[in-house]
Amino acid sequence: MSADPTRPPETASERPDAVGPQRLVAVGRRPVTPRVGLVDSFGRVATDLRVSLTDHCNLRCTYCMPAEGLPWMAPPQMLSDDEIVRVVGLLVGLGVTKLRLTGGEPLLRAGLPELIGRLGALEPRPHLAMTTNGLGLARLAPALATAGLDRVNVSLDTVDRAEFAALTRRDRLPDVIAGLAAADAAGLRPVKVNAVAMRGVNDHGVADLLDWCLERGYELRFIEQMPLDAQHSWQRSAMISAAEVRERLSTRHELTALPDVARGSAPAELFLVDGGPATVGIVASVTAPFCGACDRVRLTADGMVRNCLFARGEVDLRGPLRDGADDQELVRLIRGEMWRKARGHGIGAPDFTQPARPMSAIGG
Ligand code: SAM
Ligand code: SF4
Repeated sequence: MSADPTRPPETASERPDAVGPQRLVAVGRRPVTPRVGLVDSFGRVATDLRVSLTDHCNLRCTYCMPAEGLPWMAPPQMLSDDEIVRVVGLLVGLGVTKLRLTGGEPLLRAGLPELIGRLGALEPRPHLAMTTNGLGLARLAPALATAGLDRVNVSLDTVDRAEFAALTRRDRLPDVIAGLAAADAAGLRPVKVNAVAMRGVNDHGVADLLDWCLERGYELRFIEQMPLDAQHSWQRSAMISAAEVRERLSTRHELTALPDVARGSAPAELFLVDGGPATVGIVASVTAPFCGACDRVRLTADGMVRNCLFARGEVDLRGPLRDGADDQELVRLIRGEMWRKARGHGIGAPDFTQPARPMSAIGG
C-alpha cells in the first residue's frame, strides 16, 4: 500500500481513512465512500460540481465586477459543448452527483437546452441545477425544464427597483421577477433566491426581501459578501455578517435554527420562519466557514478544474483535451488537483490574498 501524501490514492485501501492516524484529519461530515472518488488529502470527497458556462454577464453587480465589465473570454477560449459533456461525464464517473450550471450568466450561453439535455443523459444522472441572475429566464424556463433542468437559484438582492438598479447597474428588476415566476410555473422547484446584503445599499431591506419571497413560496438564502470581486474592493469591516442578517430578520420574524443534519454539507444555516414550514438560509461563508464539510469542485468556462473558489492554482484540462489526451490522463489531472485542496479558504489569515480570478470567471 502506498501512503504517498503528495498524490491521491489509486485504490480503496489507500483512502485517507485507511492510511493511519496522520490522515485521520478527515473534516467532512460524511464518511469517505468505498470507491475512490474525488478525495482530497483531508479526506473530503467532492460530489458537487459547479460548471461555469461563460464569464460574460448582462448585469454589473457592484460586489462582483466593475461598471465597464471585464475582458471577457473569447469563444475559442471556452470549452465547447462536446468538451463540457466529456469532462462532466468523467467527473460523474468519479462520483459527482450534483451539477450546478453557473457563470458569469449561464443563460447567455447559446444552445443551453441542448447542453442540459446532454448533461441530463449522463449515467448515473446528476441532479441538475442552475444559478442565474434571471434575465431571460421568463422566455427560457419552459425549454430548460423540458430539457431536464431540475431547479434554479435566482440571484436577487432587493425588490426595490431603484436599489436593484444601483446595485446591478441595470434597471432590470421586472425581468428578474418575471423570470422567477416563469421558473416556478415551469416546475423548476423549489425556486431559491440568493441574496447578498451590502451595507448602506440594501441591508435595511432584508426583511422586506424575506416577506416578498415568503408570499411567493421562494426559498431565500443570504450569502455573506466574499473577497472575490474583480475590483478587489471587499473589506471585512464593511461586510454584513450572517449574525447581522439574522438579527435584522428577527426584528420581524421568529427564526428557529434547524439542526445541522437538516442541511448536510449544504452551507446555509437554515431557520424555520415563524414556526415553519417556510425556511430562510444564511450562509456564513466568511464568519463561519464550512470548508471542513466542503464537497465542491469547479470547472471554469475555459476548462480549468479548481478545487475551491479561493484556490490559488487550478489545472488546465482544455489544453490536454485539445491535444488528444485520453480519459485516464484527464482523470489523473483532475484527481491530482483535488488532492491539493487546502484545508480552508484562509480569509482573515495574515497571509490571505484574493485569488487572481474573480467570482464571475470562476463560476459562483
Ligand atoms: N450571474 C449568475 C448570478 O448572479 O446568479 C451566476 C453567477 S454569480 C457569480 C453566482 C452567485 O455569486 C450569485 O448569487 C451572486 O450574488 C454571488 N456573488 C457574486 N459575487 C459575490 C461576492 N463577492 N460575494 C458573495 N457572493 C457573490
Ligand atoms: Fe453578473 Fe452574477 Fe456577477 Fe451579478 S453576480 S455581475 S449577475 S455574474
